[in-house]
Amino acid sequence: MSVIRTVTGPLAAAFVTGPVLAHEHLVADLRRDTDGEAALLPGAHAAPVTAELAALREEFGLALVVELTCRGMGRDVATLTRISRESDVAVVAATGWYYEAFHPAEVTAARDADELAAVLVREIENGIDGTGVSPGVLGEVGTHGDVIGAAEEKTLRASARAAVRTGLSLATHCHLGHGGLAQLAVLAEEGLPAHRVSLGHQDLLDDPGVHRRLAQAGAYIAFDTVGKENYQSDATRLRLLLSLLEAGHADRVLLSCDISRHGYLTAEGGQGYGHLFRSFLPQLRAAGADDDLIDLMTRRNPVRFLTGTRTEETR
Ligand SMILES: [Zn+2]
Repeated sequence: MSVIRTVTGPLAAAFVTGPVLAHEHLVADLRRDTDGEAALLPGAHAAPVTAELAALREEFGLALVVELTCRGMGRDVATLTRISRESDVAVVAATGWYYEAFHPAEVTAARDADELAAVLVREIENGIDGTGVSPGVLGEVGTHGDVIGAAEEKTLRASARAAVRTGLSLATHCHLGHGGLAQLAVLAEEGLPAHRVSLGHQDLLDDPGVHRRLAQAGAYIAFDTVGKENYQSDATRLRLLLSLLEAGHADRVLLSCDISRHGYLTAEGGQGYGHLFRSFLPQLRAAGADDDLIDLMTRRNPVRFLTGTRTEETR
């Protein structure tokens, strides 16, 4: 499948000529009693989000955003479509379930993983919420901790079965970077090849040995919370990334900022979606990365992940 399913229709991989943000949120509602600000709302925030993307397209050629807001996270594909059209940046929408704290009642109500897989396959084949817009990726499928609990195992297996049935790839949420090996083991049991798996938030896990094992298995290692200094300093991220590159795994790296609350928008003084381009990539260049390596990590890798292509064929 060398075509990417975006909210505005199929996009041939060859037309992705600029960088990709591999794990973002453009519309989301993760508000809880303990946190009333974890949201990017269709009314209040779509305009500043659109403006940021349009500016990044202009300045850095931003071509595509992989939007990993799924069921139970405030997903709104009608607004995603509007943001994509108005910013002229392609957007891939997602389906799946986040980690247990955000599971909607349908997860508990379902008898088994097959029943949940059917929900996802229906969305992939018929579109989301009657919009006719189909997801182009499974994600961000969440677990928390090094051992996966029963409810999260059910959603992870369901997502894997939907991925196997439909040909889409699958991006995960590893809570604070933990659980990647356990996730990959479950996904392998379900028959999903590692090159169609992206393990999320690995930049929050200060363990280069785990990164190498995951990359050796063939999965993508997502350094996708770049700029979230309250979770991990970019200095540590850079050290961890250089370690993975030195081990020869540049073709497994995905990069993004995981903007998940309105306070992260530049309009509100946050780092914004552009932090990767404005701050982190210049640091990576200063550490020796050339244009080809940056193009690999920011464009060819995410395109290969999304299209489920096993190895790099052409540039
Ligand atoms: Zn996320």
